[in-house]
Amino acid sequence: MLSDRIDELFSDQLAGWELAGINYRNLSMVRTKRLSFGGFEVLVQFNPARITSSSAKVDDSSVKQRPCFLCADNRPKEQKGIPFGDDLIILVNPFPIFRRHLTIPSCSHSDQKISDSFGKMLLLAQAMPSFTVFYNGPQSGASAPDHLHFQAGNIGFMPVEMDFTGGKHARLVSSVPGLEIWKWEGYLRGIITLRGNDGEKLAGVFGKLFESLSHRQPERPEPMMNILSGYSSDEWTIHIFPRKQHRPRQFFSSGDDRLLISPAAVDLGGVLITPREEDYEKITGEDVIDIFSQVCFNDNEIEALVSEII
Ligand SMILES: [Zn+2]
Repeated sequence: MLSDRIDELFSDQLAGWELAGINYRNLSMVRTKRLSFGGFEVLVQFNPARITSSSAKVDDSSVKQRPCFLCADNRPKEQKGIPFGDDLIILVNPFPIFRRHLTIPSCSHSDQKISDSFGKMLLLAQAMPSFTVFYNGPQSGASAPDHLHFQAGNIGFMPVEMDFTGGKHARLVSSVPGLEIWKWEGYLRGIITLRGNDGEKLAGVFGKLFESLSHRQPERPEPMMNILSGYSSDEWTIHIFPRKQHRPRQFFSSGDDRLLISPAAVDLGGVLITPREEDYEKITGEDVIDIFSQVCFNDNEIEALVSEII
């Protein structure tokens, strides 16, 4: 079983790789606070080990000038992996947000692109049902936009997972055998959720969504988005967060309103990561509303998108 091999990988790496051992031990001490919004919560996690990722320079020239940290030749020599499929390798992420946090890069150095790798993500999610597999677009939080990779974290950590089954904010808008389409309302960030057991239908509707988003952002390498994928009771649940902006205004501010937050899949899943303590202390519910509204689609924009794909 893959899950047993992943458990062994964690035991092995946390014992034998000092950086991973220290960072996973420190994770048990990270501080978390809860912000409440009518009927749901967003958690804020103070996690100093994430500073490199949150502040990563991902413009073309910065990326070209650094050695790619996901290529096998440049990875830490202590890092071991489990091959998956034709060209993926499952690695322990040494800078965890989750109690169990994996990075899953391609074995070859090729651009971060979901259009040809959506099927791989489905297979991964299916093979590791105790994890949520996630994807950050090249301009939506991935710190290696030049190297295809997914990440995965233990299920039950991100509020969006429970809020979906709680059924208060997601509404079913279309249902055919093997595929349901849901849209979210009143949740501060627009989400479209696909659920079903028919991988081809899921890929088909994802293709339509991708196409519709591409028309809105023709100048981008791919439309901006983050994706969370889970698998339970023989079906996939895929939350798609279309994006309007990479980083919010507060990220670039030099004044008092500076907040070093670079939203990616986990943040939009409801766990905002603040690598700096001052940001953790001062961030308020109003800031969260403002940040989500800058980087995500609003309810009307989601409505328009859904009407194009059903
Ligand atoms: Zn690479």
